[in-house]
This record gives sequence, structure tokens and C-alpha cells, in this order.
Amino acid sequence: MTAVLSVASECAPLVKTGGLADVVGALPEALRPEGVSMRVLLPGYPAVLEALETGATAVMTENDLFGGPARVLAGRAAELDLLVLDAPHLYERAGSIYLGPDGRDWPDNPQRFAALSWIAARIAAEGIAPGGESWRPDTLHCHDWQAGLAPDYLAQMSGGANVRTVMTVHNIAFQGLFEPHLIEALRLPRHRFTTEGFEYYGRVSALKAGLVAADRLTTVSPTYAAELLRPDFGMGLDGVLRARRRALTGILNGIDETAWSPASDPHIARTYRLPARKRPNKAALQAEMGLPDAPGPLCCVVSRLTDQKGIDLLLEALPALLDRGGQLALLGSGDPALERALREAAHDPNVSVRIGYDEALSHRLIAGADAILVPSRFEPCGLTQLYGLRYGTVPLVALTGGLADTVIHASPAAIDRGVATGVQFHPVDAAPLAVALDRLCDLYARPDIWAQMQRNAMKQPVGWSVSAKAYAALYRDATAEA
Ligand code: ADP
Repeated sequence: MTAVLSVASECAPLVKTGGLADVVGALPEALRPEGVSMRVLLPGYPAVLEALETGATAVMTENDLFGGPARVLAGRAAELDLLVLDAPHLYERAGSIYLGPDGRDWPDNPQRFAALSWIAARIAAEGIAPGGESWRPDTLHCHDWQAGLAPDYLAQMSGGANVRTVMTVHNIAFQGLFEPHLIEALRLPRHRFTTEGFEYYGRVSALKAGLVAADRLTTVSPTYAAELLRPDFGMGLDGVLRARRRALTGILNGIDETAWSPASDPHIARTYRLPARKRPNKAALQAEMGLPDAPGPLCCVVSRLTDQKGIDLLLEALPALLDRGGQLALLGSGDPALERALREAAHDPNVSVRIGYDEALSHRLIAGADAILVPSRFEPCGLTQLYGLRYGTVPLVALTGGLADTVIHASPAAIDRGVATGVQFHPVDAAPLAVALDRLCDLYARPDIWAQMQRNAMKQPVGWSVSAKAYAALYRDATAEA
């Protein structure tokens, strides 16, 4: 058995703002058959502490962790082996896990996630003994900037040299920047505040710290791994990644095939195994969203509303869908300007918008719609197009990142060979998106081709089995190299 400590700021189903949580929550079970025993270290947000089953025990304490006492609880929740950093001065607060009531980052986010990274390094360096049995990871797997400082901390600790480190980039847009006057207070080695270390244009980047210090780097799709080396996608870190390209691999995310299964989904109107049986879900969704019957495809979107997701492009291209008798049903929240623009668009009787976060509705949208739209400007992996494939809901996606790796475009050749699963467009702009929506309507009007695409989509493997093997091999290789 390889022992791995996975460190992240979110983990489904306990606490989630995006795909990061899904991946962190899915990996332990996916990796078990591959001989990997994984524990997940999370911040002790109220929701996580409440979810811990009785019997959790303290396995590590610290008298003053950046302004207050802290302890690590080992326990179980949601069928996961968890280590929870219980530090009320850092995590016991209402509201979002990253943002205060004013909608801005919590001012002490550097301390909050440096603390998580420090404790991760201590567990890796010293080991723990939950239930009296000692446990120490062979590999420390750090996710995104919130865990990015852990490899630097580990390097300071005796015992740290025996543990390998993996840093995974789920989204390079989030870099964990803070001012250099915090370096000593956060127990970071000032001599590493250099171009080769964690300095980033005069500030500290917790993500860059991980990218330069970890033994292995991964991101969540092969295409995103290649894109990250380019200035137009690397967001200032492409040079750092080019220097480390041999350490970097892209491993696709999978989805939770139990939670996302049209044959057993408890949230949807009618479960189904064949695309032809999907129909009652469309009628139910139209009724729920207040949409009339229509001759064109019903397209859905489930998304954070940020510039990344290209929702502004969709609004611009929308007439191409509506003019062909298509419909849009969207669920999302985020940028207030986008929320306003969407509410405005919903004055059209064939557009329905729900602003908010609603897990159950997201299932009904994906089961009920004919197609799912993901017009992202960049997309490290993307999960909703994978849900779409599993549910026979044809994905229309931008040709970027994981969207490029998971959808087979309905080119004439792919249709002839009977392998198409969706529609891709490029470059990522409103005019090509409008052309793609028009193409989608053409395909929808050809029931034989459409049904074939749905069948192809539902047959495509979108679970964890392939990627779990890739992670297990990565951990093994990293350990063997040492
Ligand atoms: P990202 O991590 O960039 O937000 P992903 O596609 O990787 O994008 O993951 C998004 C996850 O969050 C998916 O599981 C998606 O279903 C879910 N999600 C996003 N917005 C909502 C929402 N408003 N309601 C319910 N689920 C949502």
C-alpha cells in the first residue's frame, strides 16, 4: 500500500465551490483498488467539523498557529478518512469559505491556508497515530494554491526528505498572492523569496511556491498541461512551468459515476438507460423552468458565472439558438453583472434562468436537456460536459483544455464513422459559438444522427478507472525515484 496525504481547501460532499472539491472527494475511493490509501486534510470549517462522525480524536496540536491554538482531528465523514485542522480563529466563521460578507477575500486568507499547508508538512514529516496505529504518508499531494506552501515547509522540517510531493493545478487563475512582509510571520524562508523560489512580481505566490518546490506537477487534462506552457494560458506562470515541463503531466478528471448515473439518479423525474427514454425528463424540466414546448434543442448550462466560463459570449450568440426554435435553461451564480444580463435575457419566453447553487436542479437540467453548453475561454478539465456525456445530453464546448480532450466533434468524418459525441468550436468567440449553435440545431434536426451521438456519448468512459491508475503510477514513480 502507498500512503498519500491529500491536502485541499474543499472536498465534496462536505464543502464545495467547484470541480476541485469533486476531485478531492472522489480520489480516495478511486485509488483504493490501485493500492493507495489516502487521507484528506481539510480546514475545520463549521460544516466539516459538524460532519465528523463521533469518535474523532486529536492527533496533533499546536499552541499558536498564526494567532490561535489548533489541533488536528482524525476521523471519518462521508465515507472519507479525514484529518481536520480545527483552528477556530481561522475557520470558524459564517459565509463563504474564501470570501467575507463584503464579497472580497477574507483578509487573513494567507494565514488560513498557510496554516493548512504547515500542518500538512508536519503530518508528512512527523507522522501521526490515529487510534494508536502510526501512519505517515509516502507522498504529500497538494491541490491548488491553498496547499502550495506545503513543499517549502516540508523542506524545513527534519524527516521531510523522506516524503515525495505532488502539486496539482486545478486552475492556474488562482495563484494565492500576498505581500512579502508576511514571509517571516508565515514561517517561510526569506532566502526563497527569489525568482527561482516563491517570489512573483514582488509578491509571494503560494501556487508558484508549489510549482517550483514539488517533485511532480500535474494538471487535470493533457491539453491544459500543454496550454499552461503558453503565455496566453499560463497567466504569468508559463515560464515557471516551461522550466519544469518534464515534471508536469496532465491526468483527466473523472466523475462520480454513482452520484451521476441516469439509471439511478434520485433527483430526476424518470431514470433511464437508453437515450430514447430520456424524454419525460425534458417535459418535466420545461414545466419546472416555465419553458414552452419548442421545435429546437433545449440547451442547459450549469456553471459558476465568471469571465472564464464565456457566458457573455453565449448571451451574444444566443439568437442563433433561439432563431432555430431552441431553448436555454441556465443555473449559475457569481458575477453580479452576468447575473443581471442573464435575468434580462430571460425575458425571452424560451430562456429560463435560475441564479443560485442547487445540486438537485443541476441533475434535472443535465438529465432533461438535449444539449449542455460549455463555452469556456479556458477550462482545465470541466465536469459538466462529462455529466452531459453520461446522460446522453450532447455537449457543445469550446475547443480548449479538458473540453478538447473529452468531446469528439461531429465533423462529417466522425459522423460517417459513427464516433461523434458533441460539437466543438474555435476560436472561443461569439461568432464561432453562433455557428456551432446553428450546427447543433442541424444535428438535432436529424434524429438518426442525434440518437447515434447520444449513444456514443453514453458509452464513453467518464469515470475514474483510467485516471486512478495514472495517479497511482505517479505516486509509485515519485517514490521509486527518491
Ligand atoms: P469549476 O471547477 O471551474 O467551477 P467544473 O466544471 O470543473 O468547473 O466543476 C463545476 C462543478 O460545480 C460541477 O460539479 C458543477 O455541476 C457544479 N456547479 C457549478 N455551478 C453550480 C450551481 N450553480 N449549482 C449546482 N452545481 C453547480
